[in-house]
This record gives sequence, C-alpha cells and structure tokens, in this order.
Amino acid sequence: MPHETVIALDLEGTLISNAVSQFARPGLFQFLEFCRLRFEHIYIYTAVSDARCHAIIYNLVARKLAPMWLSEISFVDWDREFKDLGNIPNVAADRCLIVDDNRQYIKDDQVSQWIEIAKFEPPYPDTDRELNRVQELIDRRLAQNKTL
Ligand SMILES: [Mg+2]
Repeated sequence: MPHETVIALDLEGTLISNAVSQFARPGLFQFLEFCRLRFEHIYIYTAVSDARCHAIIYNLVARKLAPMWLSEISFVDWDREFKDLGNIPNVAADRCLIVDDNRQYIKDDQVSQWIEIAKFEPPYPDTDRELNRVQELIDRRLAQNKTL
C-alpha cells in the first residue's frame, strides 16, 4: 500500500461547526499540528467559497484556535459535486487521504482514502473527541502502511 503523504480536510461539520457560527471543534489546534507533522501537504477541501474560507481561517488563527500556518493553506478547486482526489495537484489519489463528514462527496472508487468523521453538530459539545479519534486512526493507518 502506498504511503499517504497528502491530507485534505473538509471544513464545515469536520473542523468547525459551519461557515456562519464558525465554532472550532474541540482539539482543532492539536489535530492540525498532527497533520502538519505527518503529511507533506495539507489542503482544505470545502464547498465554502475561498473568500469566506480565508475569513474563517483568519478568525480561527486570531483567536488562537488554529496555528498561524493555517493562514497559508491551499484550497482544492473543484466542481462542487465530488471531492475528487484527482483535483489535488501533483499527487496520485492513492497517496491522499480526505477527512470529511459527508459520504456524498466521496467518489466510489476513492472510498478507501476517505476518513469518516462524525458531523460536528448542535449543541456542539465540548466533550466531542472526534478529531482525536480520527488522529489516532490516521496514526495507526500510516504506521501500518510503513510495515507493509
Ligand atoms: Mg462537511
């Protein structure tokens, strides 16, 4: 199995509540730092417009809920139908992971690269540990890939 070097992160329902309320999911800062350590490239893969996404990230960084480097992150350009990993530049789809709460966006032939995360939804509990759970899952997956 190839070593996955790129991770694409959904925004709404995955990292934050939604583009309006913009509540950071518990463990967001630590999860992003984990991604930066483990992957060569990180992308935001979201249906939210680039301009709005920049504003959301600006707010998260300003409130110290996300690391400063997030301000420099690239967004994947897509048709708003499928979050095709083929849209990520210069890398094969099987070297990318995508963390998303919405199965509908995942192409059937890329489900193996999908890391499912439960939607962050009202009442947005402080006790939500999904980012931590997903982090451990990715950690195990990468370690396993290395030994295969
Ligand atoms: Mg989502």
